[in-house]
Amino acid sequence: MKVLAILYRGGDAAKQESRLLGTVENELGLRSWLESQGHEFIVSDSKEGPNSDLQKHITDAEVVITTPFHPGYITRDLINKAKNLKVCVTAGVGSDHVDLNAAVERKIQVLEVTGSNVTSVAEHVVMSILLLVRNFVPAHEMIERGDWQVSEVARNAFDLEGKVVGTIGAGRIGYRVLERLVPFGTKEHLYYDYNPLPADAEKAVKARRVQDLKEFVSQCDVVTVNCPLHEGTQNLINADLLKHFKKGAWLVNTARGAICDKDAVAAAVKSGQLRGYAGDVWNVQPAPKDHVWRTMKNPLGGGNGMVPHYSGTTLDAQARYAKGTREILENYLTGKPQKPADIIVGVGKYETKAYGQR
Ligand code: NAD
Repeated sequence: MKVLAILYRGGDAAKQESRLLGTVENELGLRSWLESQGHEFIVSDSKEGPNSDLQKHITDAEVVITTPFHPGYITRDLINKAKNLKVCVTAGVGSDHVDLNAAVERKIQVLEVTGSNVTSVAEHVVMSILLLVRNFVPAHEMIERGDWQVSEVARNAFDLEGKVVGTIGAGRIGYRVLERLVPFGTKEHLYYDYNPLPADAEKAVKARRVQDLKEFVSQCDVVTVNCPLHEGTQNLINADLLKHFKKGAWLVNTARGAICDKDAVAAAVKSGQLRGYAGDVWNVQPAPKDHVWRTMKNPLGGGNGMVPHYSGTTLDAQARYAKGTREILENYLTGKPQKPADIIVGVGKYETKAYGQR
């Protein structure tokens, strides 16, 4: 069997830190195991253009593994060329880099290590909400510059206590965010999701479902995005929807960059319609040097909490998704059933309810 893995290059850090398992250097810890079983294992970060390793090796690979942090985009075009492809494995959570409809048609399974990094991301969301609301980044930058002018940062700093926080998507991550916010004494938690939570789960996190998206955003001081990217969520947060946000609301998106319209978000931050935007996901990854989200600022000079895509790839998360990837491969090789929650696309059909109402 030929297994192709598209991972990110870790450089010196990956040589020094073997727990950086999601890198080209450390190969998810799979090489000696796969090779001992007689399988061929190709690992590369080269994924763009006709001469990339992804394009070259997908033609006869049976299994393709990739991470959302450096996604090998498995387009319909590539699926047509991938004559032997049976399984796409996401080492992590979020399989939008695969053309899922094409995978359904070609009976290619799409599996992911569901739940492997949801706590990692939920923690990052809570941190991002706090750093925006409390105006942390400009305050720290001031200290590094050698300045000290409390009023400059305090004039745009607030408490999270008493605020309304809403999540778009109340699945594993969205729900964990609300759980973690309960002790902050927030005023109310809202959620927007076509899959309603059970009544006792709603009660446990003080959550109220709002079914109209415009009405939902108009009530939130903070909106956090925690739904997958699919046809129904691409550009969901656009110039029109942003007009319905409360003036000066904060927006945190660790789900996928393309759920938000890049330029509309930058314009909203610049005008102060949004007081800030934070997250780790970008519409193109790696993000180009001149991507407007790198440097956008609100009228008072703050409001940017952007980082590279790493919230779900802490060392703890990498241990879990590397282990889960191996389990998925073991199941596949021995004909054992996969864990139901790990199956995004089974043979010829969607098995998840999270990628749109189908
Ligand atoms: P999940 O499947 O447990 O939950 C997703 C929820 O979103 C579901 O309840 C689903 O019904 C809801 N949803 C789908 N479409 C919606 C829509 N149009 N409007 C409102 N709600 C909608 O998934 P999860 O484990 O919570 O992960 C969510 C997403 O977070 C992943 O798909 C991935 O894109 C992203 N993620 C990012 C990182 C990172 O490192 N930044 C890591 C893991 C996951």
